[in-house]
Amino acid sequence: MSVENFGNLEKADIVETARKITEEGPICDHCLGRQFAKISSGVSNDKRGEILKEVLRAKGEGLKEGKCWVCNGLFENLEACVSKALGALKEYEFDSFLVGTKVSGMLLENEELIWEIAGASYAEPLKAELNREVGKRIESETGKIADFEMPEVVVILDLWTEKVELQVNSVFIYGRYRKFKRGIPQTRWFCRECRGRGCERCNFTGKMYAESVEELISGSILEEFKGEDMILHGCGREDIDARMLGSGRPFVVEIKEPGRRKLDLRLLEEKVKEENEGKVEVTGLQYVKRGMVAKIKDVKADKTYRVEVELKAKIKEADLRDAITKLSGTVIKQRTPTRVLHRRADLVRKRKIYSAILVSFEAPISFLELKCDGGLYIKELVSGDGGRTKPNLSELLGAEAEVKELDVVDMDMDIHVFV
Ligand SMILES: [Zn+2]
Ligand SMILES: [Zn+2]
Repeated sequence: MSVENFGNLEKADIVETARKITEEGPICDHCLGRQFAKISSGVSNDKRGEILKEVLRAKGEGLKEGKCWVCNGLFENLEACVSKALGALKEYEFDSFLVGTKVSGMLLENEELIWEIAGASYAEPLKAELNREVGKRIESETGKIADFEMPEVVVILDLWTEKVELQVNSVFIYGRYRKFKRGIPQTRWFCRECRGRGCERCNFTGKMYAESVEELISGSILEEFKGEDMILHGCGREDIDARMLGSGRPFVVEIKEPGRRKLDLRLLEEKVKEENEGKVEVTGLQYVKRGMVAKIKDVKADKTYRVEVELKAKIKEADLRDAITKLSGTVIKQRTPTRVLHRRADLVRKRKIYSAILVSFEAPISFLELKCDGGLYIKELVSGDGGRTKPNLSELLGAEAEVKELDVVDMDMDIHVFV
């Protein structure tokens, strides 16, 4: 290999620039070579630096010996960097990684000094070279692959503190949950009084409810992943008082800073089931990418509800059946319910009821089954919410009706959206 490899730029120019750089002080092969990185490809920067030095020596130039004035000896001491990174990585399971560098002010200044001599147009910055060189060594030590798109772990070399930090990216798992018990919210719900700090109202738990679907699932799986935290992203949510039955509600859980990321998901389903008997179950778990969180938040699923209704006046079964039939195929105009006005914008939503049937009638209690667009508030559909929901069952009956219990028995959506 020779200076011929440097392509069509005037070779004399390159050699002359290299000579000027070496006059400033001792410089390592990496730092010299990377000043000409964009002139030729197929040669590593340190090899390029080495060739240039040979050429200069052959011309009788005396090169200064010692610690590189540009990187302050960083590249000659690369192993220290690499072993710090490997040490930190040992705690984590991963298949792909990426190396990033926070360059210190002094090194940035040296970088600018050398660009004044050599020009910056063909140069590759210190951090690009460092990222690649450390990356290559991690690849060969661990057999894992550097991934520029979606690395599982990012190794950050902080040249200010001379420490290595890791940014461990989350694991995402898609599945469906069923909730068999009423009174459990989907996610942690902070106490309204103290907003999580703990007060008398919440018995110093900081929470409105003792448990949630999120916490129950997390309790069973977070430890297995050796993660820091788990967040549940649901495809909509049911009322706290409603059970979630049928095939369950789609969700994605995000496990933050996982130490492990390749667990047997069937075993985890079993564990969740055993530990939360009669409360929560998860099925169909599969590993997915981060993008799935936004996707399931976007999907509108049709819902089927089983609704227990109490009639406040004497109503004939035939009249009730008539009123219910009128709801079938109807678009409901629903102004934001009074009970959620404090957290939702006040506007009118249109939601369709696809089918409404009377399942059983035993005055004053009857059971209905409703299939409708997601986002229809069922309690208000039955009560009318003071005329904010139109039409509504109470109005059609000419008598007050009220929801006693509510279950989601099915969620209908195109599963291909996900997989
Ligand atoms: Zn150097
Ligand atoms: Zn509180």
